[in-house]
Amino acid sequence: MRLTLTNNFHGTECQITVDPNGPNALGKRRIARIQDELCGVAGCTCSNVLGLRGPQNIADQPPFDYYVTADRDGETMVILYVYEDAKR
Ligand SMILES: [Zn+2]
Repeated sequence: MRLTLTNNFHGTECQITVDPNGPNALGKRRIARIQDELCGVAGCTCSNVLGLRGPQNIADQPPFDYYVTADRDGETMVILYVYEDAKR
């Protein structure tokens, strides 16, 4: 499914494809692409590791959650879950 991520500081959004049934591991390259679309400003402190800022409750989109961890090489990795059954 497509998930829309937003940054309400820059007024940007980014669509990613995720598996609603499982944890989605976002690696270095995907994180960089998402960050770039949401906040491509070097040194900007508007947002978090993914470039998200503000409420992420988009109409007809199930809520999601994520946590930041690292892969076995120590690279930052984000694990994202979609709560499909909580769909509004
Ligand atoms: Zn920014």
